[in-house]
Amino acid sequence: MKYFDFHVHCDSSKKEELDILAKTARESSTICGLIGGLRYGECDFETNETVLEICKKYPDCFVPIAKLDLWETADPAEVYHYAELGFKGFKCIYPWYEYDHDIYMPVYEAAEKCGLPLLFHTGNYRPSDSDRIYRRPMLKNMNPITLDRIARSFQDLKIVMAHMGTRIFQDEASQYIKMHKNLYADLGGCGQWKRIQPYELAELLSPEISVIDHSMGNFRKLVLGSDAYVTWPHLINEGRKHYLAMFDRIGLPQDIIDDVMGKTVAGWMGISLED
Ligand SMILES: [Zn+2]
Repeated sequence: MKYFDFHVHCDSSKKEELDILAKTARESSTICGLIGGLRYGECDFETNETVLEICKKYPDCFVPIAKLDLWETADPAEVYHYAELGFKGFKCIYPWYEYDHDIYMPVYEAAEKCGLPLLFHTGNYRPSDSDRIYRRPMLKNMNPITLDRIARSFQDLKIVMAHMGTRIFQDEASQYIKMHKNLYADLGGCGQWKRIQPYELAELLSPEISVIDHSMGNFRKLVLGSDAYVTWPHLINEGRKHYLAMFDRIGLPQDIIDDVMGKTVAGWMGISLED
């Protein structure tokens, strides 16, 4: 069975660099959800259109994820457009307003209708010079609590909380993924998979009432996300190894590990992970 890494950033369209990412993915039997989208400030990612072209050249290991811009306005027509083009999921980050602002609701409604998952950045975000210009992003706009309204309003929409809120919000983030059936989390980036200890993760995902949960069902609310970049392809391997080492230490059953490491997300997208 292959792995599915739902959190890989497309920060380069150089063939040599893409070839290295593809080689890394193939050698580790990983399919990457590739995310581009313009970013304000000095460091722009590749456009959604470029990401789509790239994925067509590496169809065995890259899957296109469209970034949706949540600015002072947001257009649900974009969602249908990207779904028709063949994107398999969506990503949102640094919204102008909070994620659960009224004007963004039609965008999420459209994603739910398309039956495609949506990955939201949550938690820590490093300051940069462009913050002076936009006076954004704001962590409070990307607080996991802002996904509560979205999860309960669009219960058929699969939502992944990237970074599980980071260390700043991880306690409340873990409670939201346990509460909402359609809310999941990855442990990518910001030191999450590298930093979080197995006992901490087990504690965060234990049921609210009993201390020991033999089913370990809450772990099914995690998905693999390394937060790798085209220019940092090795993070695919590092992220996967940390996830697996942590699950081994916790003693997670293999069927749950398989779900987290790819089956859940691939299932939403209708992608087979069979070799
Ligand atoms: Zn990321």
